[in-house]
Amino acid sequence: MRATGRLHLGNYLGAAKGMLELQDNPEYETLYMVADVHTVTTPYDVEELRRNRKEVFIDYLAAGLDPKKSIIFLQSMVPAHIELAFYFSAVSTIARMQHLPTYKDKVKQYPQHNTMALLNYPLLMSSDILVYKAELVPVGIDQEPHLEVAREIARKMNERFGMDFPEPKRFKTPGEYIPSLKGDGKMSKSVEGSYINIIDTEDVIKKKIRSIPTATQAGGEMSEGVKTLFNLARLFMKNIGEFETKFKEGTLQFVELKDLLAEEIGKSLEPIREKRKELEKDDNYVQDVMKDGAERANVIANQTVKEVREKMGLA
Ligand code: ADP
Repeated sequence: MRATGRLHLGNYLGAAKGMLELQDNPEYETLYMVADVHTVTTPYDVEELRRNRKEVFIDYLAAGLDPKKSIIFLQSMVPAHIELAFYFSAVSTIARMQHLPTYKDKVKQYPQHNTMALLNYPLLMSSDILVYKAELVPVGIDQEPHLEVAREIARKMNERFGMDFPEPKRFKTPGEYIPSLKGDGKMSKSVEGSYINIIDTEDVIKKKIRSIPTATQAGGEMSEGVKTLFNLARLFMKNIGEFETKFKEGTLQFVELKDLLAEEIGKSLEPIREKRKELEKDDNYVQDVMKDGAERANVIANQTVKEVREKMGLA
């Protein structure tokens, strides 16, 4: 997760849920970080970043990441990520990076900020993964092109320098693509009005769900807004068939479905809101988790970078 804002429902269902599932499986060793260095790849406010990196970290803990089971840290506290990303740039072409859909989208969004940092984003992400020789990455479907880059880099580093990087795969969740509440594109914190924050109260959630554009439609082809509503409903409600039938018959009262859905989302997020309130009162605990996580991550990451330096002729 980048540190550009607070955790939203898309982040929670697309990424955090997968993180929790892997963390609770004793077969896996898990490492999770707030990608604060990635935040500088698009325009940002310094004070906001300083605040947000910690807020997102607390959101993670509130969502259930557990320092007894996972190593949880801030990316900037493990400098090996950045060093390794530079070595990866030696086996990556500019053309390959320029063709990535995420890169093209961001350039369109910020035409004045077509920076080297933005172009290098997938290399840093590959490093975030491969520096731990990680095999599974719980991220949303929008990140698949970046994982493909990580696999290519792993192969190239193995062939060219005799490294033993695994080819990382995406760990999928049922919420791998959560649509925007505006009925257009994905839910994203960079699009105002598109998201539900995981700490939103039930009243706020209700207002936001009611804003999904469904107004005039009854029966026939589903509009994007109606599809969004049903997609969310499928993830949070059981008896969705009855509403689908009503939609087909043209008798569905959208506001009824919307309010029931808002209630279900509110209920499932309530424990996170409560946990967050507790964590906000305990800064020492949060600082300790951060420090301990970084220490443990540094040990593993430094070992990988040492190996890479040796294989590349730099040691
Ligand atoms: P955003 O797009 O809101 O800025 P990030 O780029 O920081 O979010 O993504 C953080 C994680 O959340 C990634 O794993 C991403 O795949 C996942 N994610 C973001 N938006 C969605 C969404 N709408 N549906 C599912 N997963 C998402």
